[in-house]
Amino acid sequence: MLEERKNNYIMSIFKSGIYFGISICDISTGEFYSAEIKDNQNFPLLLDELARYNPSELVINTMMSDSEEEISKIKERFDCYITNYEDKYFDDKLDNLNLRFNITDTNNKKIEDIADKKLAISSINALIQYIEQTQMTSLDHINKITIYQISKYMSLDINARRNLEITEKMRDKSKKGTLLWVLDKTSTSMGGRLLRRWLNDPLIDVAEINKRLNSVKELKNDMILRGDITENLKKVYDIERLAGKMAYGNANARDMITLKNSLQKLPDLKQTLSNCNSVMLTELYNSIDELKDIYELIEKAIVDDPPMTVKDGGIIKLGYDEEIDKLKTATTQGKNWIIELEAEEREKTGIKNLKVGFNKVFGYYIEVTKSNLNQVPDRYIRKQTLTNAERFITEELKNLENQILGAEEKVVNLEYNAFVQIREEISKNIKRLQTSAMAVSTLDVLTSFAIVAEDLNYCMPTVDNSGIIDIKAGRHPVIEKMLGAGLFVENDTYLDKDENRLSIITGPNMAGKSTYMRQVALITLMAQVGSFVPAQGAHIGVVDKIFTRVGASDDLSMGQSTFMVEMMEVASILKEATPNSLIILDEIGRGTSTYDGLSIAWAVAEYIADKEKCGAKTLFATHYHELTELENKLEGIKNYSIAVKEKGEDIIFLRKIVRGGTDESYGIHVAKLAGVPKQVTQKANEILKNLERKNILTGKQLEKKDKKQVEGQFDMYNYKLAEIAHEVDKINLNELTPIDALNTLVRIKEKMK
Ligand code: ADP
Ligand code: MG
Repeated sequence: MLEERKNNYIMSIFKSGIYFGISICDISTGEFYSAEIKDNQNFPLLLDELARYNPSELVINTMMSDSEEEISKIKERFDCYITNYEDKYFDDKLDNLNLRFNITDTNNKKIEDIADKKLAISSINALIQYIEQTQMTSLDHINKITIYQISKYMSLDINARRNLEITEKMRDKSKKGTLLWVLDKTSTSMGGRLLRRWLNDPLIDVAEINKRLNSVKELKNDMILRGDITENLKKVYDIERLAGKMAYGNANARDMITLKNSLQKLPDLKQTLSNCNSVMLTELYNSIDELKDIYELIEKAIVDDPPMTVKDGGIIKLGYDEEIDKLKTATTQGKNWIIELEAEEREKTGIKNLKVGFNKVFGYYIEVTKSNLNQVPDRYIRKQTLTNAERFITEELKNLENQILGAEEKVVNLEYNAFVQIREEISKNIKRLQTSAMAVSTLDVLTSFAIVAEDLNYCMPTVDNSGIIDIKAGRHPVIEKMLGAGLFVENDTYLDKDENRLSIITGPNMAGKSTYMRQVALITLMAQVGSFVPAQGAHIGVVDKIFTRVGASDDLSMGQSTFMVEMMEVASILKEATPNSLIILDEIGRGTSTYDGLSIAWAVAEYIADKEKCGAKTLFATHYHELTELENKLEGIKNYSIAVKEKGEDIIFLRKIVRGGTDESYGIHVAKLAGVPKQVTQKANEILKNLERKNILTGKQLEKKDKKQVEGQFDMYNYKLAEIAHEVDKINLNELTPIDALNTLVRIKEKMK
């Protein structure tokens, strides 16, 4: 019943003070991971891990279930079933844990000092016991537990995962229109699952990333190799899940045939890699176990088209088991004797239409029609009367029947036993099956990257630790694919750790700001996953984390897009971002009044730009043109805008990013383009002119006139002016007493200082 291309995870959470130990298992494939969260931002990290695995069930200890606020946040964001599990199961005893399971780190190295990992151990113990209790079965196919470091992978906060639409769309959670949708040219469901996991776990280790990239390059350059691989992969079924079913004891004979057919492809698949040069393809070549013994076992034992049920016989091939063969011959022989007996009885009795038949209730019988009853001899024993006939048995027939049915029953039992034995034999080799399955999945994903790179004209990025993101003629992978080749307008990007850390991006609505920023984040992410990227050239200095935050009013997906949520998330970005992070801020501050919003946006930009405080690479789209002032004030900030061309009353979107800010928002033009009635857009124009005259919103003229005087505090002056205007506007002259009027004036004077 499980969706094949998706893992189905169950996760245990052991909360201890402010720390967490987590374990994650996919019972159907036998994958088992565990980690400890001991950073200072524990809960957000836990949420990130939840977002990574998206488990369908959570098993938690009391301290966790008592943390109401955290639980409600989890429930709000994840659709999973939560089980409170008794604390006694979350024990940190090692017992024979490391004998039963091979506990390693992500580099496959045995973890030496496992006693150190009490948080992880507690969650592992609970999850194992929980699975054993609920599944009431052995967990033989889970033999490896990988304790991973949360920082081995790029950290993607929940918003980045959602907002970048990596594996599911924000609106409807569908796959179409996501990065996965563009990149998934995998041939097997195992490969599909692994690709999804890779996209959710971009790497940060330069060597590991380049290992993947180099193998993709080799596959991309060799069309014949690629073709051979996919040809073979297409006939490989889900070895990983089949292996799980074997160990689980619920595989039937058909599953074995599917497994056999898949295994049959392994030698060819392996052969295709024999001349490869890249490190990773060579490694895969070495790690594909052809599993010929398993193939031969199934080939020898199981008929090619077995029934669904395993308890009614018809499974085992002739020649596999002597005993079964003997009994089978006996039944066939018995059936021949029955035919002979029929002929004999006809002869003896002279009844020409005498028949020997069989039914499940009465067994074998001799049937004589009513008209011939007088010829029936005494030795016939009446068994059943029908309208036109009578049925009899004889001593001899009864004996034959016992022999035949006895043999048939024995055969069915023997076949079942033989089948179970074969299944157990396969289960014993589960590790080998899993190793090959992993190699096949990996090859599938790398080949998928190569196919996409070739088809969509992607380039190989240079990945290092330079801290530079330099993209030439980059494209947004998803929007490009939706628009069709050639229609997407390419753009360059340059960010580094010095002069070009923070780009302020202005431009009218619909210009392409959000698209541009996501494109940069996606290209960076793709490069760190090991995929080629949609660009003419790309130099990607590895980033440790990607954050995105979209202004409240743009973020429709959660229904509760309050300014509070927006600010909480901005707060956590500011706390967690490092100089190696990439931050995408898309019109933050929108969820509140203009002046609050502008002030916050301004302060956030200043904070990030400060190397001492944050210094992360940042793309910051804003409709507050005032922020372009920052370029002249602070180091590391550059203004960009997305160009539009005015053509009479209309504007044309050029989609090109250029240096320098804009101060035009063209909002009314866009309204016109969108079909807002002319009366409304004309009125809007009048209002705008009026406001501009009053200097309230732009302060532009003021800046020109009194530049010297206002220099350095221009921004604050501007806000005060606006605030005062607001206050004056609120005054109701009909209710104002002379004293009040005087007081108000004093207050305003005070503010002017
Ligand atoms: P903004 O954030 O500035 O309001 P968006 O990024 O949402 O604008 O872009 C609006 C639309 O413009 C997108 O849905 C996309 O279809 C189109 N678009 C954006 N960038 C490009 C581009 N570089 N080439 C072609 N079309 C683009
Ligand atoms: Mg936008």
